[in-house]
Amino acid sequence: MLRGSCAPRGPYHVVSRMPAPSVHSPDVRAVECESCGRAQLVAGRVPEALSLTCAYCGHEQVRSLGGSDGPPYRTAPRPRGANGRLVSFDLRETPPGLEALARRRVPIADTRARFDAVRTALSTMSSAPRDPEAEWHLVWLGSMLAARHHIARDLLSERAVLEATLERTTLPPYRNLLLARLSRLAASGASSGDGLALAQAWLDLAAPHTGIAEVDGDVDAAIAYLDIQRGDPQAALARLGQEEASPIRGSARVVADLLRVEALERLGRALPAYGLLRIATRGHGQAVVTSIATRYALARRSRARLVRAGIGALALLLVLPVVVVFGIESDHLAFLVSADAALIAVLGIVLWLRRKGRRVTF
Ligand SMILES: [Zn+2]
Repeated sequence: MLRGSCAPRGPYHVVSRMPAPSVHSPDVRAVECESCGRAQLVAGRVPEALSLTCAYCGHEQVRSLGGSDGPPYRTAPRPRGANGRLVSFDLRETPPGLEALARRRVPIADTRARFDAVRTALSTMSSAPRDPEAEWHLVWLGSMLAARHHIARDLLSERAVLEATLERTTLPPYRNLLLARLSRLAASGASSGDGLALAQAWLDLAAPHTGIAEVDGDVDAAIAYLDIQRGDPQAALARLGQEEASPIRGSARVVADLLRVEALERLGRALPAYGLLRIATRGHGQAVVTSIATRYALARRSRARLVRAGIGALALLLVLPVVVVFGIESDHLAFLVSADAALIAVLGIVLWLRRKGRRVTF
C-alpha cells in the first residue's frame, strides 16, 4: 500500500490515490525511512531524487540513489581494504568479522544492527574515495537482509533494503551487484504486468562491463532474466551459453544455470534442459536449486521431471531388495505394488500442496 503525506512538495510528492501500485511498479520508489526505518512505497521514478515525509513518523527527508562520477571502472585500480588486501566481489564469501552473521537462524535484528552501524559510518565519510571494505560489508549485509525478507515474502522490505544499500554505495562493481538484484526482483513481477520497465531502469544504471567476472556475470544473469520475461529465451541462451560448463562465475551462477534451463524449456528442448538441471542440482545442491528456482519461477517442467525420476528410483529401490531375497511371488508382488502406490500417492499430495503454496514439513 502506498502511504505518505498528501501535501505536494515541489515536483515530488507522496501519492495517496487508489489504486495502489505494486512493489514492482516503475512509478514508485521503495524507501526505508532514515529516522524510523519503516519501509514504504513513495511516488517517484528511478533514478530521480525524492523528497518525502515519512508516513509513520513524519520525518522529512531527501533521498537519492547516489552514483559514481569516476571514470569507467575498467580503467580504475582494483580497490584494497585497510590491510592492503584486494576487497572481494563475490557475495558467497563472508567478509572477515561477519562470520557469525552468515550462520543459519541468526536473528535478523543482529544483521540489521550491523547493517545500520556500517551505513551510519559510511554516511559520515563525506567524499570519495570512501572505504571500499566498509562498502563491501554494507553490500554483503544488505544482500543478506534482502534474502531474509524474500524468504518471509516481504517484497517491499526486500526492495527497500536494496535501495537503501544502493544509496550508500559508490563503487561501480558493488552498485552493479545491487542493481542486478533489484532488476531480477522487478522482473520477477512481470507476470502481473509490472516489473519489466523497472527491471530495465535498474539495468540502465549499471556500469558497463567492469572486467570482474563475478560482477559482470551477475549483471548478465539479470539481463538474461529480463530477456526471458520479455519472451526472448534465445537471447538469454546466447548470453549465458548452453554448454554443460557455465561461463558465469560468482554468486549468480546458480541463477544463471536455472535461466539456461528455463530458456531451453521455452525453446522446446526438454532433454537438454533436463540434463542441465541435473548438472546444476549436483553442483549447487537440491536445496539451493529449489530455493532459487522457486524465487524466480524457473525450470518448472524439468524440476517436475526430476521429481518423477526420483520417485521412480525410490520405488525401484523398495522393490529390488525384496525381489532378490524372496523371489517374485504373487503375494509379495501385490504387497510391493500396494506399498509403492501408497508412497507415490503421498508424494503426489505433498507436491500438489507445495505447488498450491502450502508449507509441508515432516
Ligand atoms: Zn519514519
